[in-house]
Amino acid sequence: MLLELKDVTLLYGRIQALHGISLTVGQGEIVALIGANGAGKTTTMKAISGLRPIAQGSIVFDGQDITKMRADLRVVRGVSQSPEGRGVFPGMTVRENLDMGAYTRRNKAEIAQDMDRVFTLFPRLKEREKQSSGTLSGGEQQMLAVGRALMSRPKLLLLDEPSMGLAPMLIQQIFDIIVEINQQGTTVLLVEQNAQQALSRAHRAYVLETGRIVKEGTGQDLLTDPAVKDAYLGVA
Ligand code: ATP
Repeated sequence: MLLELKDVTLLYGRIQALHGISLTVGQGEIVALIGANGAGKTTTMKAISGLRPIAQGSIVFDGQDITKMRADLRVVRGVSQSPEGRGVFPGMTVRENLDMGAYTRRNKAEIAQDMDRVFTLFPRLKEREKQSSGTLSGGEQQMLAVGRALMSRPKLLLLDEPSMGLAPMLIQQIFDIIVEINQQGTTVLLVEQNAQQALSRAHRAYVLETGRIVKEGTGQDLLTDPAVKDAYLGVA
């Protein structure tokens, strides 16, 4: 297992957002986390990346207990998050944003190699290399956020709603790229409102409801599960 969460609870003041979440992500997998608004998907990502401390439970990554590790040290260990709402630095160029993603790294040759890889995955970013990120379209900013997360050369890539706000054609494209990134050796944990796409691309998935995991299975199993279809796929 690359990642294992055991009985994780998380509080925002008196609000309990996670009620004992247990999940695993195996080396080489794409795992999806689906659920309605407010189910706790983003909160689960924050627990893993260390942006929010957990109240109880444990998180083991790549054989090490990271439950109490600082967020920046988790990046060094190989956990990288592409945040919901994109979060690119608007005053910086595309290239500068990508450079920021590699801030924990020192090997210039490897960084240059990964920059080339990101530009191969996203030719649109290459064309706009020197453009200020604030002037990019929503879809391009989304690509940049994913590209920046890749620049830390993560073992585990956390993607929070990568398809949010994208036109249907771009949604297909971003999922194609996620599969490609995965096939190149990066393990992916994906949070998505777009359950149809997420389940059809993921090896395994978990369904989250009000801070609890209520179902898990292969992407295919969940795609054909009547309750999942009814609640998340818009078909009875
Ligand atoms: P969405 O798809 O709408 O982003 P989500 O599944 O990602 O939903 P979370 O953002 O993880 O849901 O929120 C889980 C619960 O925690 C919600 O009830 C939310 O209101 C609450 N919550 C999230 N962030 C905070 C915060 N900073 N302070 C207080 N409550 C919060």
